[in-house]
Amino acid sequence: MVKHLINKLKTKAGNVFRKAVFLGTTFLLFGCPDPYIPQSPRAIVYANPNSGEAPLESRITLNGEDPDGDIAEYKLEIDEGANGSVEETIVQSTPIDITRTFSDGNVKIYGQCTDSTGLRGAKNAYITLSQPTPEPTPLPAKHITGRLESNEEDGVLKSGEVRAYVDTNNDGIAEDVLYDDGENFDFLVPYNSDVKIKGKINGGLGSYVRTVSFEDVIENKDVTVRAVPYPTFCTPEEFRQHMYEINCTNSKWDLDNLYKIKIFKHGNDGEFNDTQVTLISNKFKDANDIEKFVDGKELDSYIEVVDGIPPEPWEDNCIYVVPNNNIPGDNAGVTYRQKTTNKVVYKVRIEIDPAGIIPDTSNTVITHEGGHAFNAFDGEAIILEDGDTILKAYPNGAVPKIADEKAAKVVYENTYNAGESWNNILGMESW
Ligand SMILES: [Zn+2]
Repeated sequence: MVKHLINKLKTKAGNVFRKAVFLGTTFLLFGCPDPYIPQSPRAIVYANPNSGEAPLESRITLNGEDPDGDIAEYKLEIDEGANGSVEETIVQSTPIDITRTFSDGNVKIYGQCTDSTGLRGAKNAYITLSQPTPEPTPLPAKHITGRLESNEEDGVLKSGEVRAYVDTNNDGIAEDVLYDDGENFDFLVPYNSDVKIKGKINGGLGSYVRTVSFEDVIENKDVTVRAVPYPTFCTPEEFRQHMYEINCTNSKWDLDNLYKIKIFKHGNDGEFNDTQVTLISNKFKDANDIEKFVDGKELDSYIEVVDGIPPEPWEDNCIYVVPNNNIPGDNAGVTYRQKTTNKVVYKVRIEIDPAGIIPDTSNTVITHEGGHAFNAFDGEAIILEDGDTILKAYPNGAVPKIADEKAAKVVYENTYNAGESWNNILGMESW
């Protein structure tokens, strides 16, 4: 084997190198007594445990081995924080075995043994300290205060029942239900809960259940819960069903943004005379007629008569009334409307056949189309019992009836949002 290795050496210094390797090999093969060389001791340091959550109690030992003599001194240094500054030093002639508790930062331990000839051996140990997960500080509960009212009376507190369904972990399931008897209520709910407030009026015929939802409640809330009293003219389920069918998307005007109701004397295909313009105008501003659809808003100041044809495109926030002799389907009137994706209506165009607007008649077509403009966007009218209607003045009556008025109060209730679920407004659930 040696010879094989040697033969492989082909450097320029081959001969010299070959000789050196040969001599070295011979020396090792035949052995030779070493001169005496004192050997260093070996330090053995343990920390047990050497990791854990603060405060950590750890046993630290320093032992030593010396192959050729005795260990004269054991020295242990403890650097709390492992930042280079030693907090404790122990020096003694016997092995060290101590227990210490550490609570701040990692710990570095230096162990050193010195033998009787002064030679030293050193070894370090390290303790890794993790800080305990702090107990979460409980966050303060929040108040949801409010008032129970009827949507048909302003500022009158109603007794009844209000419940807070509290979903503390935001998983869609209420872990807790809190109760109040209406009027002024005050619920204390855990921080960051999802909360559904449900309110129902007692007395009279009772009311639908109004639901208002709050997500992630991190501050106090105040809410007016305005519940819709049950109807007097049909069953609660019938009224609810009619509202759903007619106004299934619950679209409505933002009445604060309504700009003008413009009656055009001329259309592309027809015209109104002055008498007809007056008849139309009077219908709109009659508190017992179209005004009933807007829950108390006075329409008089919005009406403007235009001696021309309507511009294209239609103006935002306007209702146009336009003469048309050729309304599709041989109808007396038709209403077109546009709404935003938020289901807020912002443009309406009513076309009416002038032949149907006649003095000293009820001219119900105007009321009917006015109903479409404000309330009955998504369907035709429905007749309730005893001749009451929802959003239908034609042919049952010349003016809106109490069912229409009730529907209007629901649609234009300020605390109900366009597009909000009917079930949140006219909830039928039994609790
Ligand atoms: Zn219609």
